[in-house]
Amino acid sequence: MTNNSKISFPYVFFKGKIVPIGEAKVSIMTNALQYGTGIFGGIRGYVQENPKSKIQNPKKEVAIFRIADHYQRFLKSLNILNKTIPYSHKKLVDITIELAKKNAPDTDCYFRPLAYASNLGLSPNLHEAVFDFAIYMIPLGEYLPIHKGLKLMISNWIRISDVMIPARAKVTGAYINSSLAKGDAESLGFDDALMMTSEGHITEGSAANFFMVRDGVLITPSNYSDILEGITRRSIIQLARDLHIPVEEREVDRSEVYISDECFLSGTGAQVAWISEVDGRKIRDGKIGPVTGKLQKLFFDIVRGRNNKYKNWLTKI
Ligand code: PMP
Repeated sequence: MTNNSKISFPYVFFKGKIVPIGEAKVSIMTNALQYGTGIFGGIRGYVQENPKSKIQNPKKEVAIFRIADHYQRFLKSLNILNKTIPYSHKKLVDITIELAKKNAPDTDCYFRPLAYASNLGLSPNLHEAVFDFAIYMIPLGEYLPIHKGLKLMISNWIRISDVMIPARAKVTGAYINSSLAKGDAESLGFDDALMMTSEGHITEGSAANFFMVRDGVLITPSNYSDILEGITRRSIIQLARDLHIPVEEREVDRSEVYISDECFLSGTGAQVAWISEVDGRKIRDGKIGPVTGKLQKLFFDIVRGRNNKYKNWLTKI
């Protein structure tokens, strides 16, 4: 076993085919490695806990959450870079399912698709760059704790803006912005950072969207607040509306977070992770709130296959 095989599943999709991970190597000169010229995705696969299927089939089934939506954002992100890859949306979904079948996970897992400038040219010129596509899978449990409240700080690293690196595109190189915020927050003893726009409004966490509740209204920074337009965020908004919880997408002030009734992060990695403290100020005396609790439970019921209403969000492997 190589070191890699302990942290990843054995097969990856690379240069047009499924190969053992040890064969998926790129040159040190790869443009994407040098300049961060890539687009990536992050998609979760969840072990299903449908009691019926357990009786019929004791083998653990895994289903992928909102795969079609993830690849839509992936292709739109590429479009922002004005680049293409030789795979259609349908092909990307098919490749991912084929890879999943080959790796046959029986644990929660995470898919990392990557479209990257595979040319070896020295110039960061995107116009010249030639993009290829690869995907690997890892087992993944909690990325952030979901049962204990998160302690966050508001970072003084400002979130990239649409006129710098468009935040709604999931650009690999843009993540140095998240890395700085997350790295500094953790080194200071926090779980994660909240970031602000250059205008001083709250955007999101280092790799997750932000929600808060004030007077029964669920509030999240809008698509115009330099956020990544999260698939989980979109799901939470829909779930809240379906539960008749009023939702506002708008600018959020820093001090509003301090006095919010509840707040949480949403994301593929973060899932629905509640926040107990921001900048040392306790939110709701450090306890999970009712709106967050309701949405968190519904979210996990859905991803685990226990809720039929949203079963079209799941694709069985
Ligand atoms: N913001 C950033 C910066 C992220 O990296 C992520 C994770 N993809 C999110 C938000 C949440 O997006 P999603 O729900 O699509 O995973």
